[in-house]
Amino acid sequence: MKIKSDIQIAQEAQMQPIASIAEKAGIPADSLEPYGRTKAKVDNNLLDSLQDRPNGKLILVTAISPTPAGEGKTTTSVGLADAFGKLEKKVMLCLREPSLGPVFGIKGGAAGGGYAQVVPMEDINLHFTGDMHAISAANNLLAAMIDNHIYHGNELGIDPRRITWKRCVDMNDRQLRFVVDGLGGRVNGTPREDGYDITVASEIMAVLCLAQDLEDLKARLARIVVGYTYDDQPVTAGDLKAHGAMTALLKDAIKPNLVQTLEHTPAFVHGGPFANIAHGCNSVMATRLALKLADYVVTEAGFGADLGAEKFFDIKCRMAGLKPDAVVIVATVRALKHHGGVEKARLGEENLEALEKGLPNLLHHIENITKVFGLPAVVAVNRFPTDTQAELDLVEHRCGELGVPVALSEVWEKGGAGGIQLAQKVMDVIERMENHFAPIYPDEMPLRDKIRTVAQKVYGASDVRFEPAADRELDKLEHLGFGDLPVCMAKTQYSFSDDKDKLGWPKDFTITVRGVKVSAGAGFVVALTGSIMTMPGLPKAPAAQAIDVDASGRITGLF
Ligand code: ADP
Ligand code: MG
Repeated sequence: MKIKSDIQIAQEAQMQPIASIAEKAGIPADSLEPYGRTKAKVDNNLLDSLQDRPNGKLILVTAISPTPAGEGKTTTSVGLADAFGKLEKKVMLCLREPSLGPVFGIKGGAAGGGYAQVVPMEDINLHFTGDMHAISAANNLLAAMIDNHIYHGNELGIDPRRITWKRCVDMNDRQLRFVVDGLGGRVNGTPREDGYDITVASEIMAVLCLAQDLEDLKARLARIVVGYTYDDQPVTAGDLKAHGAMTALLKDAIKPNLVQTLEHTPAFVHGGPFANIAHGCNSVMATRLALKLADYVVTEAGFGADLGAEKFFDIKCRMAGLKPDAVVIVATVRALKHHGGVEKARLGEENLEALEKGLPNLLHHIENITKVFGLPAVVAVNRFPTDTQAELDLVEHRCGELGVPVALSEVWEKGGAGGIQLAQKVMDVIERMENHFAPIYPDEMPLRDKIRTVAQKVYGASDVRFEPAADRELDKLEHLGFGDLPVCMAKTQYSFSDDKDKLGWPKDFTITVRGVKVSAGAGFVVALTGSIMTMPGLPKAPAAQAIDVDASGRITGLF
């Protein structure tokens, strides 16, 4: 049998008009703003009229530490939501919206895979409803206003060498990482070192995703720190009077985007912050609205559970007052063998020894979810055709020893029908298991202790070392009153440690914090361990080379 590509499957889908999907989700027609036939935005004020309704169950999909073998969190999230649909439950899916960078780079699209996708996949992966554009515009308006302020006399005394705000573009473009601009003499600005981030790494994206409503969005934008004055005082977007116009640019971007899965399950695809220098999950607006509309809400956090899930709990849930009901931890036999030391080319061969060696990565993530965060968990083994029965049995056996149920997920091949067992086990743990969820540190804990708590309790580090630059900055941020903010750890996603090559369950390591930075609008302090890429580059043969469009407008090569 020839395996169809994701885009082939997506293009064969018979989509329902977006008005029918909205009706199914319980979204009133006057709250729907259609963008064409199969996409719509939903009025954010709808939430106010639903305040009295109870929340549905919130299910977070996360995963083991990512490997080049791929884990399938988005695919599993879509399939799990479809499985709830098949069981006749009222369900909504909440995902992040893809960035053009990865689409044209290595990863390709980010709308699920196989028979578990959100559609129209080409639109979702390309311009969609223009949110990325709006975010870039708001970001770059602020950048322009900073330099313009300096040009016109610099009343605030901004030190051009200490501007932390960068320009952004939604593209993988390493050429723009470091630039010198303002060249050309007096009338053309002030020469200074500058740089670009990819749009999804912009603080504006994190702000949009954490905002409760338009007012809160504006207040957060005003608090953004763009740099420092000659006498070391922070300068904010509010000081530059930029926040009103930035909010105007974002007034539609704040509205959740409604689409459907291949099986017509309603899905919000809204916001997509990075999971290292930001918190890595879709907008609070979308999640809260979904919880009022559905009995079960399935959502995904980026990277592995040490980064994505930890931030979902300690940043998003803390700020939005959300309480998750269950966590699905996605693992694949292939990825676990990779953690056990098998090279990529040989992941298709049965290898119980390597699997046994790689399994502790999964076990550590499970213990974090169940013991550190106190949440019921189910492991979803995302099945690949090469997995053998003996390998699947071994995973089930090891998880069973920790009292965590395992479900085989075949949603990539079968859609919702392949996720029924998973959905049933999720409902069962919600019903049966105790939920002691709480973020792992209180707001008032000093920043260094918050960082140490995450490093030791979640990563399993023996200690944390602060480099002098980080120490100085931490003192300064606490002095400026940012000490009560949660911390957002920027760490490699490939390892529990800050060394990407330490796979599996590394022990006896120290986390080194090289720098810290406040994202005052988003409302967290970023702790940088190692160099974190905020503007990726393209690979030698970028995915873009294979993407094309025929005379009828049909896109190919977007996988
Ligand atoms: P993540 O969200 O963890 O980054 P995705 O769900 O986006 O992962 O999946 C990454 C890629 O792997 C997609 O192209 C998807 O089609 C593919 N994939 C996922 N699950 C399977 C599977 N069970 N068999 C084959 N390919 C899969
Ligand atoms: Mg994903």
